[in-house]
Amino acid sequence: MEAVKAGEPESFQEVSGAVSIRKVSRSYEEDTGRRVEALKEVELEIESGSFVSFIGPSGCGKTTLMRLIAGLDECASGEITLDGERIQGPHYERGYVFQQANLFPWMTIRENIAAGLKARKVYQENRRKPDEFISMVGLDGFGNAYPHQVSGGMAQRASLARALINQPKVLMLDEPLGALDAFTRMNLQDELLRLWRLHGTTMILVTHDVDEAVYLSDRIVIMSARPGQIKEIIEVEMEHPRDRGSSEFVFLRSRILETLHFAGSSASLEYYL
Ligand code: ADP
Ligand code: MG
Repeated sequence: MEAVKAGEPESFQEVSGAVSIRKVSRSYEEDTGRRVEALKEVELEIESGSFVSFIGPSGCGKTTLMRLIAGLDECASGEITLDGERIQGPHYERGYVFQQANLFPWMTIRENIAAGLKARKVYQENRRKPDEFISMVGLDGFGNAYPHQVSGGMAQRASLARALINQPKVLMLDEPLGALDAFTRMNLQDELLRLWRLHGTTMILVTHDVDEAVYLSDRIVIMSARPGQIKEIIEVEMEHPRDRGSSEFVFLRSRILETLHFAGSSASLEYYL
């Protein structure tokens, strides 16, 4: 990524990244001494600027894969590249949003959002950016609040702003809306679509919510557990905004639930219907 010149604020330029996952395997030793193949020879090309969702039974390796793309963990074999460059270690061009907002509790919302700029030492020339991002995620008036003073949905908006302020090429979203109530979740799904359109970031979402996957994604990757592998890839070609009650939506939802049912014995029970 090009270095930002001092004194020159970053603009909302289109930044996007293509991710190649090539024969990636990763196993872990459990406390019992048993080895678990969390991922086995997973292969996938993720197009620049696309929105891909991963769905699959608990323990099928979704978080493992997100962590590998983020560079928080290393592949045992295979490789992952971003725009042709092998991923080695974490980098701000690959953002990560967790299920829990993970904001620094001792910092205000504005300070949390500014933290990435400060860590990159580009805060001075981008001093107005935190307020722009506060506005962009609908948190006007809450910049001086502390994380414990805002709702879960607002905290998640702040963590989206905190990730996006660094203009990542790829944003990993690991069940980011899973802890929110249904109304807030639907609200933030629209927010994700808007931010995706605005920034052109490649979005990689892990979700347990079949509706969420169909509502948001270009492609849905269904995984199976032990060893974690890709079972099926479903292309979603509906225009946005998508109508959750349309026959196409309903058809896709039931097709995915059916595939999930065969992906793990009781897996489908975990999914929202
Ligand atoms: P998912 O996010 O799909 O629920 P994970 O990627 O978290 O699944 O985990 C995949 C498998 O790898 C699980 O069986 C889990 O217990 C195991 N695993 C993940 N991380 C570790 C770790 N650090 N040590 C041991 N086992 C792990
Ligand atoms: Mg997980």
